[in-house]
Amino acid sequence: MSKPPLTLYLAAPRGFCAGVDRAIKIVEMAIEKWGAPVYVRHEIVHNKYVVDGLRAKGAVFVEELDECPDDRPVIFSAHGVPKSVPSAARARNMTYVDATCPLVSKVHIEAERHAENGLQMVMIGHAGHPETIGTMGQLPEGEVLLVETPADVATLAPRDPGKLAFITQTTLSVDDTAEIVAALKARFPDIVGPHKEDICYATTNRQAAVKEIATRIDALLVIGAPNSSNSKRLVEVGRAAGCAYAQLIQRAQEIDWRALEGARAVGLTAGASAPEILVNEVIDAFAARYDLTREVVETAIEDVEFKVPRILRVPA
Ligand code: SF4
Repeated sequence: MSKPPLTLYLAAPRGFCAGVDRAIKIVEMAIEKWGAPVYVRHEIVHNKYVVDGLRAKGAVFVEELDECPDDRPVIFSAHGVPKSVPSAARARNMTYVDATCPLVSKVHIEAERHAENGLQMVMIGHAGHPETIGTMGQLPEGEVLLVETPADVATLAPRDPGKLAFITQTTLSVDDTAEIVAALKARFPDIVGPHKEDICYATTNRQAAVKEIATRIDALLVIGAPNSSNSKRLVEVGRAAGCAYAQLIQRAQEIDWRALEGARAVGLTAGASAPEILVNEVIDAFAARYDLTREVVETAIEDVEFKVPRILRVPA
């Protein structure tokens, strides 16, 4: 029987960003340098495939520092950690490597600088996400007010409405964040903010690529973990751009083929923590069922690279 035709639009850029790449390299280099086990506080990046691969090499994933022994190295995840975490590690004389993405660290520094200038911080982010917890934890408790929606802006009760600054999580929806920033500026005209927002290049580029393909496709698949903020935003961006069926999947076996019945054009992208091997797995699954045409839609070229911390570049 002949296979039905289908065009698979591959969004580019997609998948691994420089921060994720660096975080994975840090764990691998730490295992090489100090031997296994190396402890990692929180999933180094939100992807089961990546985490399982590192676990097989000798990484032990824990949620809190008190689950780590004093005499083994510990790595802090790409999402960043509250200040209390490295200070607890120092108090225990532990060896630690901070894999916080430099673009998240930049937001931490911004928050501190504003606080030093006497401004109270508003953070636009998702409650409970490790990046939000880490960024809010750069300042004493209660110093950072969290907003998640434009409606939250109306109920904000700052100390002094004339002395405010805002920062954002790096993996938010560009469009939703613009609405929240507009609401903040309308209510607090003197609020100080970053030049644009703190959403990183990788998040911005992946969302732009999805917008570009959304009008050409019947369905969108986003490879990413259910707890990956930037992946979930890609699904939302696809839907908002007019793609009625947009679905997050972790692996090819999660594809709901019945939902794709009748589709002639499908878009495929991957969140910043999803490796290309999983993209290839999905492409192969489509090729097995359809007479497949692949179209790469490239909206930006990325050449960002971050160095690993010095401690890993010097011999043990
Ligand atoms: Fe860094 Fe952006 Fe990647 Fe997060 S998504 S690790 S902020 S580059």
